[in-house]
Amino acid sequence: MVEFDIEKNIAIIGKQMVVFHCNHYNLTLQRTIIDAIGEKGITIQINAAMRSTQQMLSNIDGDIKQFAIDNFSKLGFGVLDCSSLNEDGGIVKVPFSHYAIAWFEKFGPCKEAVCHFNAGYILGIINSLYGKNLNHTNIKETACRAMDPERIESCEFEVKL
Ligand SMILES: [Zn+2]
Repeated sequence: MVEFDIEKNIAIIGKQMVVFHCNHYNLTLQRTIIDAIGEKGITIQINAAMRSTQQMLSNIDGDIKQFAIDNFSKLGFGVLDCSSLNEDGGIVKVPFSHYAIAWFEKFGPCKEAVCHFNAGYILGIINSLYGKNLNHTNIKETACRAMDPERIESCEFEVKL
C-alpha cells in the first residue's frame, strides 16, 4: 500500500510520490482555487484527481478496483461504495466524505457540492478499469453531505458515459 523511504523522507503509492495534508489544508486550498477562478477551479481539481488516480492505478498489480476502494479509505477520504458502478457508469456513494464533513464543520452548509477530489478519483478508477477517457463532464455530484449532513446521508456521484 504505502511505502515510506526513510532516507529520502518520502511516501510512495503505486510508484508515485504522495504528500499527506490535513482537512484544513485541503479545504483552504480547494476554496482558494474556486474563489480565484470559479467553475474552472472545479474542473481543474476533478481532472487533477482523475489523472493522479489513473497514474497511481497504472502501477498496481491485481484487483485495481479493490485497491482503489481500500486506498481511498486508508488515506482518510471516506468509504467509497462502488457496488453499482460498471463500464456503463452508475452511482457511487461516499457516506463519510472527508471533504464534505470537513467543509461543513469548517465553513458551515454549502450551496453546491464540494467533493471534487472524490469525483476525480472515481473517474480515475473507471478510466483505469475500463480503458475509458472520461473527464469532468462525465460525473456529477448529485448530493453532498456538506449541504446538510443531517438530511443527506451520503454524497452521491452519478457517472454517465
Ligand atoms: Zn460531497
